[in-house]
Amino acid sequence: MNPQIWFLTGSQHLYGPETLRQVADQSAEIQRTLAAGGLPVEVVGKPVLTDSGAIKQVMLDANADRNCIGIIAWMHTFSPAKMWIGGLDALRKPLLHLHTQHNASLPWSTIDMDFMNLNQAAHGDREFGYIQARLGVPRKVVAGHAADPVVVARVGAWARAATGLQHLRTLRLARFGDNMRDVAVTEGDKVEAELRFGVSVNTYGVNDLVAVVDQVPDVEIDKLVAEYRDVFDVDAALLDERLDSLRYAARLEAGMRQFLTDGGFGAFTTNFEDLGGLRQLPGLAVQRLMADGYGFGGEGDWKTSVLVATVKAMDSGTGRGTSFMEDYTYHFGPGEPKILGAHMLEVCPSIASAKPRAEIHPLGIGGREDPVRLVFDAAPGPAVVMGMADMGDRFRLVANEIEVIPPDEPLPRLPVARAVWKPAPSLSTSAECWIMAGGPHHTVLTQAVDAETLRDFAEMAQTELLMIDERTTPAGFSDRVRWNQAYHRLARPL
Ligand code: MN
Repeated sequence: MNPQIWFLTGSQHLYGPETLRQVADQSAEIQRTLAAGGLPVEVVGKPVLTDSGAIKQVMLDANADRNCIGIIAWMHTFSPAKMWIGGLDALRKPLLHLHTQHNASLPWSTIDMDFMNLNQAAHGDREFGYIQARLGVPRKVVAGHAADPVVVARVGAWARAATGLQHLRTLRLARFGDNMRDVAVTEGDKVEAELRFGVSVNTYGVNDLVAVVDQVPDVEIDKLVAEYRDVFDVDAALLDERLDSLRYAARLEAGMRQFLTDGGFGAFTTNFEDLGGLRQLPGLAVQRLMADGYGFGGEGDWKTSVLVATVKAMDSGTGRGTSFMEDYTYHFGPGEPKILGAHMLEVCPSIASAKPRAEIHPLGIGGREDPVRLVFDAAPGPAVVMGMADMGDRFRLVANEIEVIPPDEPLPRLPVARAVWKPAPSLSTSAECWIMAGGPHHTVLTQAVDAETLRDFAEMAQTELLMIDERTTPAGFSDRVRWNQAYHRLARPL
């Protein structure tokens, strides 16, 4: 797949061929300016649209085109918007309304009526805005000149969100076993998930996986062990008296990868209560697969696995990472309050600050042999955590802007990968709001895409998102939770 954004330019016949040629040229220039500004996906220009038949056709083509992840529309001149009703009603891809114009400055001394007739986006785009509002089309509006880096960044955020949505639309998720018994928040409506997001979620007996794992040939295990020595700092014991454990971890990786590849799966879950004939809880294997873009959720948490896969599809080329995460324990003080996040084993090395260490330690849960895992600290920097809950009548996303920071002190006795962060606006407000919203304890932590990208994603997936950021107050937030409740019930079709 070669992800593309189609750029649609609206006009009408009234202007005549000479003006329409200028419109086409100037539209191409704006597309080049956006591309030169560093959009993460290719922009494909389409011929200037001047009638409802062509508009509807290009929308249907966009729906059917596997490479087209979304549409940017701009009304260079005045495009009477009744022409757009049929097309917008048919459109099933994400839409961004770019409100811009060719010239950045107004040519005060030379401006005449020809210039005025050519450059009408200031009111043409308002006509287009009306019809989108009237139809209730989910969309993002970005206003400004195409050469403005802020404009390009905001279009880029939307394009990344659309890339994630495109991945999600055809995602297949394999659950090895069911959810951890009696846990509430990891449950959810898989039928609604397939309708809303497109993702197909199905369970496989863990021994189906064991059968594949047990048949991995030795030569593949040799290759993986050599690779581990290359890319990780492998504990000496794992290359000596515990080598058999490291080889079994490699067997797990190869077997799981085989199972996922054969089934066309892009995400999976495990459950420590249901390991069948697996000798270790998969730690290193899960970490390696996540680093290659697979979604993962522990304890059967398929909703978080879906989010990890989706956000990973958004992060390509950023050089920064995305991981499954869990709020584990707090530091209330002294100093600034912060959260220590980790999981039993499964944190993605794409967020590591330095070369991870491969280690083996006992695990008091799951009742299997000691599992091999990668141990590291997460790289410092801005990040976002986001989780998904099933509220019964809809899915709810809850997100929090955070700052990953180095641990206050080394953690020599903690044998798992971890991230330490300060949540915005403070630990107490963040936690109060998160809990007020019913947000889950499992999340996706991303350092690669920002809150705006996740907001764009929620908009295009038509899913509630409650964002906790620098401006959040508990009182305002609980009002929003209440208002959202009413809104989503009213907006829901019967
Ligand atoms: Mn967990």
